[in-house]
Amino acid sequence: MNKEQIEKLGRLLLDKTQAIAIVVHANPDGDAIGSALGLYGFLRNEGFAHVEVVSPNAYPSFLHWMPGNASVIIAEKAGDKALSIISNADLLFCLDFNGFGRTDQLEQALEKSKADKVMIDHHPQPEDGFDVVFSDTIASSTAELVYECIAALKGGDAVTLEMAQCLYAGIVTDTGSFSYGCNNPRTYEIVARLIEKGVDGAYLHRLIYSTYSVDRMRLLGYCLSKKLEVIEAHQAAYISLTKKDLERFNHHEGDTEGVVNYALDIRGINLAALFMEKDDHVKVSFRSAGDLDVNRLARRYYHGGGHKNAAGGKSLENMENTLAAFDALIKKGFF
Ligand code: 5GP
Ligand code: MN
Repeated sequence: MNKEQIEKLGRLLLDKTQAIAIVVHANPDGDAIGSALGLYGFLRNEGFAHVEVVSPNAYPSFLHWMPGNASVIIAEKAGDKALSIISNADLLFCLDFNGFGRTDQLEQALEKSKADKVMIDHHPQPEDGFDVVFSDTIASSTAELVYECIAALKGGDAVTLEMAQCLYAGIVTDTGSFSYGCNNPRTYEIVARLIEKGVDGAYLHRLIYSTYSVDRMRLLGYCLSKKLEVIEAHQAAYISLTKKDLERFNHHEGDTEGVVNYALDIRGINLAALFMEKDDHVKVSFRSAGDLDVNRLARRYYHGGGHKNAAGGKSLENMENTLAAFDALIKKGFF
């Protein structure tokens, strides 16, 4: 970790009476929630009395087992409380995102806040506006960077089993169970330290991945058998889901998590997409293999971003036009 930034963070953490807010990006995933709750556990153990975790919206139930989950404030449900926590904070941690625009309705409050702002993140192209920055695209996950910060500030012994479970969950979910974004020995060294704390990897894996409802499993089957389109000539495959499709399978938050990866598992496919109809836009998820840069694709055409091989965004067109435009883009060869 950057020594100067760690020293700066150390100085910002001297006052135990200050109000601290930990904020994650909209539609938080396992890494956002895992890194936030890992850091939350650390700050509470260090004796900070006023620490809150704020998420713009709700997240899937397969993340609810994490220690500290009950204390997370969901802005979508408790908007006034979330905004007042942010505007009253003396110190703000922004986890797993690198631009305030990723926090939807919290964006303006974050921009206006007079608090010292700490970014801990692993996405490319970090934006300005932060006082302390830990931004490392080589890291598998933000959870890995939170571990590094804690270890640099207080040593690895400061990490408890509860914190280790949250951080482990962040690393596992952001690497697809150690299958991408983790070709770096340091990730495994950190995982080794977390396992030493008593993390039971197989148990946590079941809590995260083996909790499908019957509806969710049938929705996956429907996606693959009825909704998968393959453009073999362009090594692309995509799945689209209308609101009606989602209602038919009694859709819950997180039910489509991971669906896009199946499209990428087809031999010869290098680009996979999932289109999901929302009230006023179509949410898009991209995955790619190799050098194909879907962060660029999402930034350029879909008001979004992400990583080179996993990115997301939205289309403001209806589903039909969105799919036609995507098809044209693929056939034109945007890359
Ligand atoms: P997912 O497809 O799982 O929703 O997101 C994949 C990756 O893209 C994640 O790293 C996520 O942070 C990023 N991402 C998803 N949606 C957006 C978006 O609207 N804007 C930006 N900048 N990144 C996004
Ligand atoms: Mn992440």
